[in-house]
Amino acid sequence: MKNQSDSGGKLLLITIDGPAGAGKTTVSRMLSDRLGYKYIDTGSLYRGVAREAKKAGIGHDDDAGLEMLCGSLRLEFVQDTDGPHLFSNGFDINGEIRTPEMSMLASAVSARPVVRKYLLTLQRELGKGKGAVFEGRDMGTVVFPGADIKFYLNASVKTRAIRRYKELSDKKDSSTIEEIERDIRRRDENDSTRTLAPLKPAEDAIKIDSTDLDVEFVVNLMISHVQKHLMQ
Ligand code: C5P
Repeated sequence: MKNQSDSGGKLLLITIDGPAGAGKTTVSRMLSDRLGYKYIDTGSLYRGVAREAKKAGIGHDDDAGLEMLCGSLRLEFVQDTDGPHLFSNGFDINGEIRTPEMSMLASAVSARPVVRKYLLTLQRELGKGKGAVFEGRDMGTVVFPGADIKFYLNASVKTRAIRRYKELSDKKDSSTIEEIERDIRRRDENDSTRTLAPLKPAEDAIKIDSTDLDVEFVVNLMISHVQKHLMQ
């Protein structure tokens, strides 16, 4: 049962942007639970496109192929007991999109304008009606520039690599911390230097560095910003 006591029942649109491993997913899930809002992980959508492109043998820079793919793709979130699962054309692909290979491929296809255009429309559709926490890279800058509250969550590369390492070893992935750190640096570089919708904080974003903060603290800090906003 969702709890709306922290939002006073009011429906806001909240964005959380930041680089890989900054803690966005955990924090977004907890924040959306506390507010009784839906949680949308937009990275999953890029991973979904990457997975389908790979399956169809479409290269990450084949714009014509990606455009055709997006035209026939039906990505949707379906609520499960452990949170939202991404479905593609009716199939649950949640378990397949969280690998290091899909992380890199998602980062590569996310630089292609045809993919961003397709997902922009889908994300705005999902944001209609508000009452949502959107997690991603360009939520506050491009997808929802008029969002009610924007957060930008960051942490040092070392901390992010250690967090990802723990997450992946729970899933029995054998990547080393060094490999994960190298991938994170490459993804940071790809995501923040691309011409279209690069990773950066929106001018009006509230910046939080979670390097030395625990999740509870970050979520409480965000809730205090939400409450301040609701009192304005
Ligand atoms: O957040 P996650 O690590 O799942 O995202 C995978 C990749 O998808 C990112 O490295 C980024 O390149 C891309 N992405 C994006 N814009 C978003 C969300 C994710 O470009 N809003």
